[in-house]
Amino acid sequence: LGPKSASLVARESKVGAENYAPLPVVLAKGDGCRVWDADGEEYLDFLSAYSAVNQGHCHPKIVQALSDQAGTLGLTSRAFYNDVLGEYCEFMTSLFGYERLLPMNSGVEGSETAVKLARRWAYDVKGVKGDAVVIMAENNFWGRSIAALSSSSDPTCKEGFGPYAPGFDLVPYEDLAKLEAALKKHGANVAAVMLEPIQGEAGVVVPPDDYLPGVKALCEKYNCLMVADEVQTGIGRTGKLLAVDHVNVRPDILVLGKALSGGAYPVSAVLCDSEIMLNVRPGEHGSTYGGNPVAARVAMAALNALIDEGMVENAQRMGDILDGELKRLVSKRKIALDTRGRGLLRALIIDDAQKPGELAYDVCLAMRDRGVLAKPTHGNIIRLAPPLVIDEAQLDAAVSSLDEALALW
Ligand code: PLP
Repeated sequence: LGPKSASLVARESKVGAENYAPLPVVLAKGDGCRVWDADGEEYLDFLSAYSAVNQGHCHPKIVQALSDQAGTLGLTSRAFYNDVLGEYCEFMTSLFGYERLLPMNSGVEGSETAVKLARRWAYDVKGVKGDAVVIMAENNFWGRSIAALSSSSDPTCKEGFGPYAPGFDLVPYEDLAKLEAALKKHGANVAAVMLEPIQGEAGVVVPPDDYLPGVKALCEKYNCLMVADEVQTGIGRTGKLLAVDHVNVRPDILVLGKALSGGAYPVSAVLCDSEIMLNVRPGEHGSTYGGNPVAARVAMAALNALIDEGMVENAQRMGDILDGELKRLVSKRKIALDTRGRGLLRALIIDDAQKPGELAYDVCLAMRDRGVLAKPTHGNIIRLAPPLVIDEAQLDAAVSSLDEALALW
């Protein structure tokens, strides 16, 4: 680390909580796919803040929308109307094809909102009499609130934080037979099946193309809702606006976050039709900042930039190139075991038999030293997810750095 970076790490380490273990690099500036550390070193960002910065760092149109609205009216709370929220709801419902939108801030709040909407629908519309159940997949990740960790199978985020909230059951991802068995087991009490269309934190697990349509069909057969958590996969990341668009599935409830703001502001959203949304009445759910005019303007600017500048198509094109290059590295470099992904949400699986759970991190350090920033997820899996504005020259440069890093082992 350069001297400024080292002193910044030391400063934070003394007084900050230790709930994260960042890669040792201290970022001070960003522009598109590029970021600079506090000592002026330049890098290509291959994490994009866990897919929140799809539109690239500091996209000028998003920054402009943020600053214009922040200087006009920042927050009213929902005690009053504001003059942007209606326009934003119209924009979002027409873009994604749902009747209504409920605005929140973070991804975990969005997913929690979806669980509440599903439970309420189950009691009010479906007529569930016992405790409603939401079925999720093993290795899901939707945040670390009490409800999220209660429905998690990851001991790191779960253990030591009980008692856990009931009402969740887990089935293996990609297994329709086990899902159907769970639907039968819980009978009429099932409110929803909630899934990530590609499991991001679990290591970019892409299900076979018949999985999500199969889930949807089972939800219809057993009269429960399908909730798609597209917080990480949505907003162009996989080469379509939504990951479910690859297989033409329309979830009953759609959760968006992260890149909905292009990294400029915490914005999440839950979309569904009136039959589900309107069961929640005033006072039963909300958030002081949810739906504030800055968030609404930023989200519209972020989506307009994504669409107007062809970022979704670029994600598909660059993703195909990256896939080809990663396959080449897998065939060439011993420690590169496999690669998978869709669009610009990709993973490289590292053979870490020599140093279990640690080698992928060492590879990320070697990548950092060669100007590319990424971080392992789940031990030996390196997620590669650059901003969707990446061009071919930047992609080539990053692949060369990755190749050099892998060659060290
Ligand atoms: N859902 C998914 C699929 C995610 O990947 C994440 C975060 O990584 C979340 C929800 C939680 O989002 P946030 O960290 O904004 O609360």
